[in-house]
Amino acid sequence: MSTTMHAIVYHGPGHKAWEEVPKPTVQADTDAVVKVDTVTICGTDLHILKGDVAAVTDGRILGHEAVGTVEEVGPGVKNVKPGDRVLVSCITACGACRYCRDGSYGQCIGGGGWILGHKIDGTQAEYVRVPFADTSTYAVPEGVTDEEVLMLADIGPTGYEVGVLNGRVRPGDVVAVVGAGPVGLSAIMGAKLFSPAHVVAIDLADARLEAAKQFGADVTVNPSHEDAVSVVRALTQGLGADVAIEAVGVAATFEQCTALVRPGGTVANVGVHGGPASLHLEELWIKNVTITTGLVDTYSTPTLLRLLATHQVDLARFVTHRFAMADFLDAYDTFARAAETGALKVVLTG
Ligand code: NAD
Ligand code: ZN
Repeated sequence: MSTTMHAIVYHGPGHKAWEEVPKPTVQADTDAVVKVDTVTICGTDLHILKGDVAAVTDGRILGHEAVGTVEEVGPGVKNVKPGDRVLVSCITACGACRYCRDGSYGQCIGGGGWILGHKIDGTQAEYVRVPFADTSTYAVPEGVTDEEVLMLADIGPTGYEVGVLNGRVRPGDVVAVVGAGPVGLSAIMGAKLFSPAHVVAIDLADARLEAAKQFGADVTVNPSHEDAVSVVRALTQGLGADVAIEAVGVAATFEQCTALVRPGGTVANVGVHGGPASLHLEELWIKNVTITTGLVDTYSTPTLLRLLATHQVDLARFVTHRFAMADFLDAYDTFARAAETGALKVVLTG
């Protein structure tokens, strides 16, 4: 059997290549090696390529989302066996540390957390080594496609946990979502589960605003020719949004969220930031505003898998483009030019 494979390797800001690398092997008792059947690209990968995520160093295989088939497991793996179809989550969980015992797997201090495609080699490859396989993979349920399940590796739980649940969306709320990329759309989809009065999607790309309508936004705003704060105030007797969800990851959109939220409301930051943003405490101190931040924990993955399996969420509509893995660089190009290509999630198949 071949001991090499192909993978997307990061070579510093702006540089990546689809190249031949050694195939991963089981290193720890609790590892699995998974053959990647479907994989996708995240907005976070674009941040890494901009140089926003310093922990990612030259030579790292990117990617933290995959659905695949278990090829080999270490002797300590109990629940996963070769041949199983599994979701490889963006978050790896040791299962035993203080944070894991609390369901905060993203903050794992036992060797997990967001490590794939960050601190260890990731999923944009023909094979991936998954540490703590028992607590970091999920069985693919019957009756759903790999593509649908792939949407729960990251964007599904991220929009739901870090946007909707951290934002404490309740029935009747007016929810503003800034950034209608896959993560913002996932937040819109998750907010709809709570019957909000209005969901306002705000994005510079009209293609993304069109997608936001499909996912359930009833109001869309392009801030390049309309003032989002005025639109939201007009819907809320001048007060502002109950919940403002930041799903871009730049200072301007975080600051916009703090301007959109009503007194007593919540700003839920989801975006990955590469620099500081201004916190206008001179305006906010008196408003009783809650600001949350978060790396996804993926504690909601089992819930979302049940909602998928019972057809209460439609995840297939995220997938706009499909490629063979050999065309990975084209897939990156299509995803990075989403405003022109209309890409939401691009799926690559091995
Ligand atoms: P994306 O790049 O596909 O989408 C971002 C969207 O923001 C685009 O539609 C873009 O047009 C829009 N946008 C850019 N500038 C804007 C502005 N000034 N005003 C309004 N809209 C603007 O990314 P994505 O995959 O949807 O991810 C969104 C963010 O979530 C990224 O920062 C990503 O890194 C982050 N993320 C965070 C976590 C977490 O755990 N917190 C997990 C995954 C992704
Ligand atoms: Zn991601």
